[in-house]
Amino acid sequence: MLKPSSSVQYLKGVGPARAQLFLKLGISTVMDLLRHYPRHYIDRTTLSRISSVSPGQNCTVMGVVQGSQVRPTRDGRRDFILVLSDETGHMECIWFNQPFLQKVFKGGQTVVVSGEVGFYRSKQLKNPVYEILSREDQELIHTGRIVPSYRLTAELSQKVLRRSVKRTLDGCLPLVRESLPRHVRKRRGLLELREALQQIHFPDDWQRQQQARERLAFEELFFFQLMLARRKQRAQDPSRALAFSTNGPLFSQFVKSLPFPLTEAQRRVLEEIKADLSSRKVMNRLLEGDVGCGKTVVAIAASLIAADSGCQVAFMAPTEILAEQHFATATELLRDLNVNVDCLLGKTRHKKREQILKDTAVGKIHLLIGTHALIQEHVEFAGLGLIIVDEQHRFGVLQRAALIGKGVFPHVLVMTATPIPRSLAMTVFGDLDVSVIDEMPPGRRKVTTKAVTEAERGKTYEFLAKQVQEGRQAFVVYPLVEESEKMEQLMAATEMAGELSKHPALRGVRVGLLHGKMKNDEKERTMRSFKAGEIDVLVSTTVVEVGIDVSNASIMIVEHPDRYGLSQLHQLRGRVGRGRHESHCILIKEREIGEDASRRLGILVNCDDGFKIAEADLAIRGPGEFLGTRQHGLPDFKIAEILRDGPLLSQARREAFLLLESDPELSHPDNAPARRTLNELKRLSSELPPS
Ligand code: ADP
Ligand code: MG
Repeated sequence: MLKPSSSVQYLKGVGPARAQLFLKLGISTVMDLLRHYPRHYIDRTTLSRISSVSPGQNCTVMGVVQGSQVRPTRDGRRDFILVLSDETGHMECIWFNQPFLQKVFKGGQTVVVSGEVGFYRSKQLKNPVYEILSREDQELIHTGRIVPSYRLTAELSQKVLRRSVKRTLDGCLPLVRESLPRHVRKRRGLLELREALQQIHFPDDWQRQQQARERLAFEELFFFQLMLARRKQRAQDPSRALAFSTNGPLFSQFVKSLPFPLTEAQRRVLEEIKADLSSRKVMNRLLEGDVGCGKTVVAIAASLIAADSGCQVAFMAPTEILAEQHFATATELLRDLNVNVDCLLGKTRHKKREQILKDTAVGKIHLLIGTHALIQEHVEFAGLGLIIVDEQHRFGVLQRAALIGKGVFPHVLVMTATPIPRSLAMTVFGDLDVSVIDEMPPGRRKVTTKAVTEAERGKTYEFLAKQVQEGRQAFVVYPLVEESEKMEQLMAATEMAGELSKHPALRGVRVGLLHGKMKNDEKERTMRSFKAGEIDVLVSTTVVEVGIDVSNASIMIVEHPDRYGLSQLHQLRGRVGRGRHESHCILIKEREIGEDASRRLGILVNCDDGFKIAEADLAIRGPGEFLGTRQHGLPDFKIAEILRDGPLLSQARREAFLLLESDPELSHPDNAPARRTLNELKRLSSELPPS
C-alpha cells in the first residue's frame, strides 16, 4: 500500500513520465495530490437544459458537439463558433478571436460549458469556460455525482487527475494522519481530516462539501497563525526584553510642549504603547491610521520613552526624502528638549557620516533617523531599544524578521498609512499587535474629489491656473506602470510637463518635473524648489516622493487614476488638504475605462474614510495585489480565502494563540498532531523566514 509520503509515480496509471507533469502542479507525493483541491465541480443538478436558458443568465449546460467554424469579422477578428445540442435543442458558443480552439473540439464530444448567455441572431454563450468530458466523467455525472474539476497543466487531463485522486483516496486515506488536535477540532465542530479529504474531492452533497472546505480552510489558517504565534512567542521571551519607565522627564516635557492637544485616539494608542514598553515583553506593534492622523507625533513620543530610559531609537522611512521630512519634524518638535536627533542617509558626506556613526556607537545620539539602510548597513548602537518603521508594507515581513534577527531584541513599532483591513492585518502581520488611530486632528479639511473625463481636461487646466494665480500649488501625478514601459512613460511624463507649461490656460505657470530616473540630488533640488514655492505645479511619476508635506499645495491631479489601487489614490489625496486652503483632488479618467474601474473611482469620490476605502479596494483587487504581491510575505493559501473567511481566520487565530499559550512547546500528547504538522510545514515552507 502506498504511504502519503510516497511519490505519485508509484500510483497506478502514473509512472515517472506523468509524475513530471504532476510536478508542474506542485504535486510530488500522494499527500500533495490529496491536497490538490478541486477548483470547481460539475453537478448534474445544476446543469441547465438548452431550451430553458435565457439571455442575461449565467448557466452551465452539457451538450454534444454538432459542429464548429471560425468566423471572420469585419474588423479583423476571427471568432470561434461551436454548436452544441442536448435533447431539448441547439445552442451556439462563441469565443471571440480564438481561432485556435478549432483544434480543441471534435464532433461528437460531450462538453460542459458555462458562462453568460447572450443573444446574436439566436441564443449564444459568450466566451464560456469549457470542459470536454470523457465517457467515465459522463457516467459519473449521469449517476448524479458531484464531479470535481481540477487545475491542470498541459498534457494532463481531468480524467487522469480524477482517477489518480480516486485511487489515492481508496488506497491511502486510512494512512493519512490527523493534523489538528482533537480538542480544537471538537470545539470548532470540524470534520476529521480523512473525511474532509474524501468530501472535498468527491462530495456526497453540497453540505458535506461545505463542511470539508471549512475544515480544510480552518486548518490552513490555523497552521499559518501557529507559525506566527510561535514567532511572536520567541520575540517575546521576557529574558530579552527591556522594560522602560514611562514617566520620564523627556516624555512629559514633550507632551506638554506640543503646540496642540493630542487627540483621543492618539492618547489611547500611546497608552497601549506605554503598556508594551513598560512590560517585560518585546513590543511588536502595528500602528495603523489614515494619512495625516498624527502617527509621527505618537512615534516621537514613544522614542522619548526609550530615551528616558537611556535607550536609543532607530526611525526608518522608505525613502530619503521622507526620512528627511521626519528629521525636520522631529527637530522642530524636540527643539526645546535635551535629546540628540540626527539623520543618516546614503548621501551623507563622509565626515558627517563618521561623526554620526561614532556618536551612535557611544550612545550620544538618542534618535537616529534614516532609511532602512540604517539597519542593513553596519550602524552600531550603544543600546538600541526601539525601532520605528514607517510605511511597513514597503519593507515586508522578511525585513522585519531580519531586524529582529540582529541579535538585539529592541521593541518594534511599525507604522502604516495604508489602513490595512483587519482581516488582512491579521494574516500578514499576525504576530503584531494592532493599534489604530481612527480620528483626525481637528480642523482637517475635506478634500473635494472629482473624477473627470478627458473632455474636461481644458476646464481642469483653467481651474488649476486660477488656483495658481491665487498662490496655490499643485501636484500632477503620472503613473509609471510596468518596468518595460518605463522609458515610454517617462517620455510621456516629460511631454506632459512640457504640454502643461505650453497650454494656453497655463501661461506663466512654473512647472517642475520629478521622475524616478533622476539622480537623488536632482530630485531633492526639485522638491526643495517646490517646497519653497518656486515651482507651482509639480509633475511627478513617482508616488513615493509625493509623500512630502507641502501645506500650500491644495490640488492633486491624478492621470490614469484607474492604474492605482484605491488606497494609493487615497494616500495621494491625503497630500493636499493639509493647510488652511480649500483643497481638490481631480482624477482624469482615460477614455476607455471600464465600468468596474469607474465604480472604483466612484468609491473614492464619495468616501474619505481610509478604512472603508481599503476594505473596498481589497474586495475588488484581492489581497495579493492590494499589498503588491509576494514580496510582502502574503501566504498563498490553497483553499482559504482571506476575504470570505474572515470569521474563520479569527477563530483559527484564537485557537492557535491559545494553544501555544497553554502548551508553549506543544509537548502535550494531545497536541502531537499539531507539533508534527508544524514541523512538516516548517520543513516545506520557504515562505516564512526562520524564526
Ligand atoms: P501621519 O504621520 O499619520 O500621516 P502626522 O503625524 O504627519 O500624520 O501629522 C499630520 C499633521 O497633523 C502634522 O502637521 C502634525 O503636526 C499634525 N498633528 C498631529 N497630531 C495633531 C493633533 N492632535 N492636533 C493637531 N494637529 C496634529
Ligand atoms: Mg506621516
